[in-house]
Amino acid sequence: MNAVGGAATPTPRPMLVGGDWVLATSGETILVENPANRQPIAAVPRGRAGDVAAAVAAALAAFPDWSRIPPRERGRALLRIADVLEGRAEEIARQVAMETGNALRTQARPEAQGLSQIFRYFGGLASELKGETIPLGDHVLSYTRREPIGVVGAIIPWNAPVLLAALKIAPALCAGNTVVLKAAEDAPLGVLMLAAICQDHLPPGVLNVLTGTGPEAGEPLARHPAVRKLSFTGSTAVGKLIMSWAAERIVPVSLELGGKSPCIVYPDVGPEEWVIDGIIAAMRFTRQSQSCTAGSRLFLHRRVFDSVLTRLAAKVATLTLGDPLDEATDIGTIINRKQFDRVCGYVKEGIGRRDARLVVGGLPPSEGPLSEGYFAVPTIFADATNEWRLAREEIFGPVLVAISWDDEAEMLRMANDSHYGLAAYVFTRDVATALRTAHQLEAGWVQVNQAGGQVPGHSYGGFKQSGIGREFSLEGMLDSFTQRKNVSVNLDLPPK
Ligand code: NAD
Repeated sequence: MNAVGGAATPTPRPMLVGGDWVLATSGETILVENPANRQPIAAVPRGRAGDVAAAVAAALAAFPDWSRIPPRERGRALLRIADVLEGRAEEIARQVAMETGNALRTQARPEAQGLSQIFRYFGGLASELKGETIPLGDHVLSYTRREPIGVVGAIIPWNAPVLLAALKIAPALCAGNTVVLKAAEDAPLGVLMLAAICQDHLPPGVLNVLTGTGPEAGEPLARHPAVRKLSFTGSTAVGKLIMSWAAERIVPVSLELGGKSPCIVYPDVGPEEWVIDGIIAAMRFTRQSQSCTAGSRLFLHRRVFDSVLTRLAAKVATLTLGDPLDEATDIGTIINRKQFDRVCGYVKEGIGRRDARLVVGGLPPSEGPLSEGYFAVPTIFADATNEWRLAREEIFGPVLVAISWDDEAEMLRMANDSHYGLAAYVFTRDVATALRTAHQLEAGWVQVNQAGGQVPGHSYGGFKQSGIGREFSLEGMLDSFTQRKNVSVNLDLPPK
C-alpha cells in the first residue's frame, strides 16, 4: 500500500456509502499494488473520519427499516446475493489473486467459491432468529426475542479478504443489523466487488464499505459513538486497541486474532504421505502461511523426527512458487514489503542461530523472476525449542519450527505454552490418543488427521489471546449479532 495523490494514479475505484459509490471527501487515494510484480493495479479512496461518519450515518438511517423486515425476507436477499456470487466467483478470485498474491488455484479460487456457501448458509438461518418461552406458570407469559444490535463496525485484514468480509456481512445483515465494513488497505478490490454484488440486492445504507488505513479509517469507525457492535479480524495488537475502545462505551466486541498453532505428530504415524500432506496443509504453505490457523510449531515425536522431516523437506521443495494467476503455481507471494521484510528477518534469525538446523528453504532469491515480487521460500528449522522467538511469535509467513518430544505430558505443556490458542492439529491413528490430546489442547479448533479450511456450521474462534467470540455458525450469528430481550407479561389481571 502506498499513499499517492497525483494525477498519474489510476482512476480510483469508489467505496460504498449510503448506496452511492463515492470517493474520499479529501480526494486522496491509496495505491493498491500487485505483490507478485510490485506494479500498481488500482487506486482506492483514502477514507478518513469524515467518510466514516457519513457511512455510519447512512447505516444508522437504514437500520429501522432493515431491522423490521421479516428475517426470512432478509434471508432471501442473501440467497439472491449467493446466486450471483456463485456465477462471478472466478472474476472475484482473479481480483483477489492479483491484489493479495495468493495463488489462484490453491487459494484465491477456493476462497471466492466459498462466498456463495457463506451467504446461503446464513440466508438459510434466518428462521433460527427465534426466542424461547420460559415456563413460569399459566399466569405469566415470559419469552425472549433475538433483536439486532444496530450499526455493526467491521474491520478485516487482507489475507483472505472476501471470505473474511462475507463472514461479517452475511450474519450481521441476516440478523437485522446494518454494517459499515472497513476493508484492508492492501486488499480492498475483491471486497469492493463483493460490496457491489450485495448492493444490487440491498436497500441503500444497509451495507457500507470503506477503504482506508487502520489509524485513519479503522480507528474512527471503532470509536464512533453510534456503532453498537464491533467485529474485528486481524492482529492481536490491534485487537487489544479495538477492545479498549469498545470498553470506553461498553459495546460488545468479537475478535478473531492471531495464532501460533501446534501441529503434533505421534510416533504411530511416520513419514506416510498423508501425514506429510497434512503437515503442509496445516502450515498453510500454499497461502505463504499468512493464515491465523497456520500450524507453525511442529511437535514431532523423537522416533519419527528425522524420517518425517526428511520426507517433509523433500515434498515442500517440490511446491511451485510463481505467478499467482498461473494454474501451475502452488505458492504465491507475501502481501507487501513490510511483511516480506519481517518474514526475511525471522529467516535470518534462524540462519544465524548456531542451535538451529535449516532443513529446507532459506532467504528468498535475490535475482531471477521471483525477485521481482515478494516471494518467500517455505522454510523449516529443526532442533528448535518452544522458547525460541521463532516458536513464540506469529510470523505470518512460511517459517516452520520443528520441536522433538518424548513425553506426552511435556509435549502438551509446550503445545499449550503460548498466549495464542486458535487451532491445533494432531496426527495419530489411535483414537484414544487423538481424543485425549484434543481435549487437553487449549485451542478453539482441533483437527485430527486433517487440516481443512473453515466450513459453514463449524463454530470458529480462539482461546486466550486468539480472540473472543465465534464465527461461521448459528451460534456465531446469534451471539455476535443479536441481543436477547426478555418480555414478561402478567396474564393474571384482576377482573375489571
Ligand atoms: P492488522 O491488525 O494490522 O490489520 C487488520 C485490520 O485492522 C486492517 O483493516 C487494518 O487497516 C486495521 N487496523 C490496523 N491498525 C488499526 C488501528 N490502529 N485502528 C483500527 N484499525 C486498524 O492485521 P493484518 O496484518 O492485516 O492481518 C494479519 C493478522 O490478522 C494476523 O495476526 C492474523 O493472525 C490475523 N487474522 C486472524 C484471523 C482469525 O480469524 N482469527 C483471520 C485472519 C487473520
